[in-house]
Amino acid sequence: MAIERTLSIIKPDATARNLTGKINAKFEDAGLRIVAQKRIQLTPAQAGKFYEVHASRPFYGELCEFMASAPVVVQVLEGEGAIAKNREVMGATNPADAAPGTIRAEFAQSVGENSVHGSDAPETAAVEIAYFFSGLELVG
Ligand code: UDP
Ligand code: MG
Repeated sequence: MAIERTLSIIKPDATARNLTGKINAKFEDAGLRIVAQKRIQLTPAQAGKFYEVHASRPFYGELCEFMASAPVVVQVLEGEGAIAKNREVMGATNPADAAPGTIRAEFAQSVGENSVHGSDAPETAAVEIAYFFSGLELVG
């Protein structure tokens, strides 16, 4: 399987509860390498642009507000099949459906405040990585 890069975000509910290290350990234990990482505070407009694919969904307003409510940690994860592997480590969107041991099963508070974001395909990973990081910030 090819080496891929994917965009991960540790969301405000998780940074607020000081869970960055515990979540990063899950990625590293699964063989994902954190090749770029920074803690930033999004504005609602920046969150809205990131999630614009969901603009027509009923939860969009709440989602943008939540993502701007506290700092997030944005990161690039690298590894074999990193996009699917990260989704596996994250668990299902709704923590009630997330498999035991996954980040969302252990840490998520609700379907909205679910601790992590992960890209869902190579095309979206490329766009999402470029939204937060320049080439110079990706050191492998
Ligand atoms: N979301 C929500 N309510 C829903 C579905 C999604 O608040 O019914 C939020 C949740 O934070 C989720 C994000 O919108 O992580 C993006 O939704 P998506 O379906 O892309 O889920 P993901 O790819 O994050 O698992
Ligand atoms: Mg998604």
